[in-house]
Amino acid sequence: MRIEYDRSTCIGMFQCVVEWDAFERDETAGKAVLVDGELREDDERGVFVREVPDDAELDAKFAARSCPVDAITVYDDDGTQLVP
Ligand code: SF4
Repeated sequence: MRIEYDRSTCIGMFQCVVEWDAFERDETAGKAVLVDGELREDDERGVFVREVPDDAELDAKFAARSCPVDAITVYDDDGTQLVP
């Protein structure tokens, strides 16, 4: 499973932080931080991606569901979008 986090869309509501500890608060920027997220190459919007460990799949889905502006997207291994 893979997660993508669109930092430019994030409005800093921090619900994702409650759902999965791979999301942390950047209070200064008013944005979430995806721990171990890598900036997608050639992406000017600032989309960070990382793999989701098997034991964190539920948390990752909840984080994506909790985001009020759909800044977080979860895909399964064959690229099918799962959430939102
Ligand atoms: S829930 Fe969405 S808007 Fe809120 S901090 Fe997380 S990514 Fe940003």
